[in-house]
Amino acid sequence: MEFDVIVIGGGHAGTEAAHASAKMGCRTALVTLNPSRIGFMSCNPAMGGLAKGQLIREIDALGGIMGINTDKSAIQYRKLNSSKGPAVRSSRAQCDKALYAQRMQEFFLGLANLTIVPVEASEILLAEGKVRGIRTTDGSDIFAPNVIITSGTFLRAIMHTGFDQAPGGRAGDQSSTGLSASLEKLGFRLGRLKTGTPPRLHKDSIDYSKVEAQAGDVIPVPFSFYHRTQPFPLLPQVHCFITYTNELTHDIIEKNFDKSPMFTGIIQGIGPRYCPSIEDKVKRFRDRNRHQIFLEPEGLNTNEIYVNGISTSLPRDVQEAFVHSIVGLENAQFIRHGYAVEYDCVDARQLKATFESKDVPGLFFAGQVNGTSGYEEAGAQGLIAGINAAQKVLEKSPFVLSRLDGYIGVLADDLVLKGADEPYRMFTSRAEYRLLLREDNADLRLSEMGHELGLLGDEEYEIFCRRRDSISHWKDALSKNYFYPVTGVNDWLSARGLSPLKDRVSAEVLLRRPELTFDSLVELGLALGETVSADVREQVEIQVKYEGYIKRDLEVLEGVRKNEFLAIPLQLDFADVPGLSTEVRSRLARVRPETIGQATRLQGVTPAAVAAIMIFLKMKSSKATPVSDALHG
Ligand SMILES: Cc1cc2nc3c(=O)[nH]c(=O)nc-3n(C[C@H](O)[C@H](O)[C@H](O)COP(=O)(O)OP(=O)(O)OC[C@H]3O[C@@H](n4cnc5c(N)ncnc54)[C@H](O)[C@@H]3O)c2cc1C
Repeated sequence: MEFDVIVIGGGHAGTEAAHASAKMGCRTALVTLNPSRIGFMSCNPAMGGLAKGQLIREIDALGGIMGINTDKSAIQYRKLNSSKGPAVRSSRAQCDKALYAQRMQEFFLGLANLTIVPVEASEILLAEGKVRGIRTTDGSDIFAPNVIITSGTFLRAIMHTGFDQAPGGRAGDQSSTGLSASLEKLGFRLGRLKTGTPPRLHKDSIDYSKVEAQAGDVIPVPFSFYHRTQPFPLLPQVHCFITYTNELTHDIIEKNFDKSPMFTGIIQGIGPRYCPSIEDKVKRFRDRNRHQIFLEPEGLNTNEIYVNGISTSLPRDVQEAFVHSIVGLENAQFIRHGYAVEYDCVDARQLKATFESKDVPGLFFAGQVNGTSGYEEAGAQGLIAGINAAQKVLEKSPFVLSRLDGYIGVLADDLVLKGADEPYRMFTSRAEYRLLLREDNADLRLSEMGHELGLLGDEEYEIFCRRRDSISHWKDALSKNYFYPVTGVNDWLSARGLSPLKDRVSAEVLLRRPELTFDSLVELGLALGETVSADVREQVEIQVKYEGYIKRDLEVLEGVRKNEFLAIPLQLDFADVPGLSTEVRSRLARVRPETIGQATRLQGVTPAAVAAIMIFLKMKSSKATPVSDALHG
């Protein structure tokens, strides 16, 4: 069999990669262990969340499929941080897990240029130092000049529950054994990481009178800019529930630390710092007497409840004991116990920003295999790898997104520059341009590029152009429409405790007042003459209200580049710098970087933290010491 691109793995990276490659006209083979698991969510049944919502919106804006598929299977939408500034607002959707995979598989069945091959890839074949194809465990060869490995948590994977171990990439799936050795032979450095999942409980065994219900948004917003499902939301929406661990729970866990494969040294792989297991949380945060738990339905037609917040690999009887100590879960019935999985990953510093190997032309890696954690991070990498494999086939230039373009650029830059010595997940604080890289403007930043690549279709591009033009039309209209200090206007403002107008002001200037919205302007008499959609109103509002902040951020960031050698006074107490986390403060205090450039490259110091130091130093700039004085003073 001869193809242009082979994608190994049908998870979240593999589906984006295969779709991009096929859509861009390349003959694509999706080689995967089990086709009925294509698009399967290995862990939590949710898409998006802080900074991850931005990634999905960017994937969608470029013409990817994660957002569309989320809208087809979402059973609860929530905009997180909705009361905070637009830079940190992110969408999250609880999905029907079975439906997510099913819709993805239906989509793939009808996709031109795509062949699904259900087999295990065991070896990468080279010819003259370049990729020639793959060998499979059934002994056959499949040929292509480009191979994208998206093997997720499957390489030499071992699952752990207490002292029990079994090979497997996740519950119900085999491990992938051959590929690691083949990669090592080609000179790739492999690492070992670990992740875990919580127990699943029967929905009818929870006492809902004792837990707190959490509803979704009253007016949900779709993930996809382009594929609005009709009706929207497509599926009935459900509640999640909240409960907490308590001191008894922690006691039970603590007494069984010696049975945890994480603490006994059985698990060698490094786990996710930001998504720790419950035993890790109890150990690390001894002063906390409770941890929040979300009870999340896995779908509309399943009895399974995902217990978000208590990922664990403790023995089964210990899991049952501590779960039954939690309010509302006293009689909870286990459908599945939690477990951890250890797997091989590659050192992403061996890759270019396109995710192609620096040493083996035609070999790409994307997703969890590059050391990340999460569906969205995987999807974003898969998309970039798929696009770039196709660009090679089409003899076009590599497609690289920078940190200025989007979170996808931040992800790629971080991975290939720093690698991942623990599972990497995206945060808004990783992006120094986060006020510019919002989820609401992902299409304005990226859809032009997606269309040029041939990934975003003409129909979607027309929707994009209409929205873009409407936003610019209304921004312009607001700057040309004026409000006058007449009785009607001032009465309206006074009735709401707002200061009345003294002079004529443009609608744009009036909208900058924090209390006012686009809708307020309409109430005040702004004539629209046509319907302005909610998303256009929101975008105009954000662009007008935050214009000053955006400009200021651009200036500061320009300064970050220019001021590589700006001195940080040795006596600076980082506790005085607002916006730094305790972790960042302690890293800075330990090393005491002498310049902004040094601070930038210090491990664990985020770009947002450097920007905070810059702002702080700028405020005190009149007292700033020249670098030579700071170094020698
Ligand atoms: C137990 C567990 C717990 C997790 N917990 C979390 C969490 O708490 N938070 C979080 O963000 N993420 C978590 N994840 C990770 C999340 O599932 C992944 O980030 C995401 O699925 C990665 O997508 P991927 O496409 O890289 O890999 P996967 O979704 O794992 O897909 C890999 C695909 O590759 C295929 N494959 C592998 N090897 C071969 C081969 N040799 N030949 C052919 N096909 C192959 C597999 O069949 C599969 O289709 C967890 C995963 C697991 C398994």
